[in-house]
Amino acid sequence: MPVLCKAGCGKNAMLKRPKTGDALCKECFFWAFETEIHFTITKGELFKKGDSVAVAASGGKDSTVLAHVLKTLNQRYDYGLNLMLLSIDEGITGYRDDSLETVKQNRDDYEMPLKILSYKELYGWTMDEIVAQIGRKNNCTFCGVFRRQALDRGAAMLNVKCIATGHNADDIAETVLMNILRGDIARLKRCTAICTGSEGTIPRVKPLKYTYEKEIVMYAHYKKLVYFSTECVFAPNAYRGHARALLKDMEKIRPTCIMDIIYSGETMAVKEEISLPSQRLCIRCNFVSSQEVCKACVLLEGLNKGLPKLGIGKSSKAKKMLEEYNAKQKSSLEEAIKDINDECKKNNCVSKGKVCRSSYKSNQSHTAQVNEESHSKMDTCCNGQCSEKLNTENETNLKVQVLLKEYGLSESELNGQTSDKLTESCDKAQTLEMDDDDFEIDTHSTGKELIEDDDSCGGACGNIDSLHIGF
Ligand code: SF4
Repeated sequence: MPVLCKAGCGKNAMLKRPKTGDALCKECFFWAFETEIHFTITKGELFKKGDSVAVAASGGKDSTVLAHVLKTLNQRYDYGLNLMLLSIDEGITGYRDDSLETVKQNRDDYEMPLKILSYKELYGWTMDEIVAQIGRKNNCTFCGVFRRQALDRGAAMLNVKCIATGHNADDIAETVLMNILRGDIARLKRCTAICTGSEGTIPRVKPLKYTYEKEIVMYAHYKKLVYFSTECVFAPNAYRGHARALLKDMEKIRPTCIMDIIYSGETMAVKEEISLPSQRLCIRCNFVSSQEVCKACVLLEGLNKGLPKLGIGKSSKAKKMLEEYNAKQKSSLEEAIKDINDECKKNNCVSKGKVCRSSYKSNQSHTAQVNEESHSKMDTCCNGQCSEKLNTENETNLKVQVLLKEYGLSESELNGQTSDKLTESCDKAQTLEMDDDDFEIDTHSTGKELIEDDDSCGGACGNIDSLHIGF
C-alpha cells in the first residue's frame, strides 16, 4: 500500500529521508534538501550580495551537488552571487584526468566559468611523480597540503570573496571523531567551523555542513546530475577510513549521530591555555601559513632535494634526515676534491694538493674576472700542462661543475657572493615548524660558516672542502 508524502502534498512518498526518516515524494525531498542548505547559508551569513564565489569543484558528488544547489538558490533567493568553478589538477592519471572531464561538463551545464590549476604548473610535480618518489604511504599529506594552497592561489587569481567547499556533515563528523580519538581537542572548534580562514586570507565556507552524504547521493541520483564516482587510485586505507566505518555503523543504529557528533564538536569547551597557531605569511611563497615557512614549501623543498620524507613525521626525524643529507653532500664534495687533487699531482702541478688555477681559469672564460693575485699564482702553477690535459678531457672539473650545480651553487656564488646568500637561505630555513597538521621540524645549523676566499684553492670559492650546504 502506497505511503503518502509526509509533507502533505498529497503525492505518494518515493523515498525515506536518511536524516529524518520522513517518507517524502521526490519534489518535497528536493525542496527540503535545498531549503536546509539555504538556512545554513543564511544563518551562517556565508555570502553577501554581489560576492564572487569560487566553488571548489572536483567533479565528485559533493562539489557537483554544491554547484547545482548554489546556482538554484542563487536564482530562487536572489543571492546576487557571481559563481565560478575552481578545480585543482593533482596530476593523477586514471583519476583526476577523468574527473576533470566531469567538471568541464558541470561548467557547461551550470554555465559557470571554470579555472583549472595544476600541481605541475604550481609546484613542478604531479602526484604521479610524487608517488613515484615517496611511495604510497604519505601521498595524501603532500596532496592535501598542496591542494589547500593551490585553492588559495586559484581563489586569489579569480579575485573571489570566498571559496565554497563540498564538505558534508559526514566529513565533519568523521573529523570530529578523528580529533577526539587522537586527543587533538584544540582542533575541534576549527574543524566544525562553517567558515574558516583568518584575516588577510580568502575564507572557506561549507554550505553542506549539515547535509548528510546519503542525501547528497540521493539528490544527485534523482536530479540525474553528472558526477564522477571513482575513488582516487592513491587513496590509502587511512585513519579516516576507520573513522568513516565507525560512523557508518553508528548511523545505522542512530541516524542522528552525525548531527550529534557535529554538535558535540561545536560545543565542546577548549581550555583557555590551549593555543592554536596564529596565521601569518610564509617567508618563501607569501601564502598563508601558521609557521615561518609553510608546509607546502617544506614538502616541496624535500622533493626537490631528493628528501621526499623531509616534511613527514616528527622534527627529530627531519633533523636526522638533514644531517645525513649534509654528511652525504660533504663526502661527495670531498671525494671530488680528492680526485682533482690527485689529477693535479699526477700532472705535476705546483699547486700540490690544491685545485689547479690554470685548469679552473681556462674553463671559466665566461665567469667573473680573476684577480691579479690569481694570475700571478697561475703563472707559478703547472704552466698550463695540466690545464691542457684537463681542457681536452676535463673530467675532474666537469665533476665539480656537476656537483656544484647539483647543490645549487652558481659560478657567481663561487666568485665571492656565496656566503651571504647561503647564510640567508639557511637562516630562513631555521626553526621550521610545520603548518597546521601533524608534524614539525626544528632548527638545523648547517651552512653558517662559509669561509671567504683565502687563496688556498684555485676553485675560487675558498675552502671548498669545508663547505657545508644546507637549505
Ligand atoms: Fe590526493 Fe590522497 Fe585524495 Fe588521492 S586520496 S586525491 S592522493 S588526498
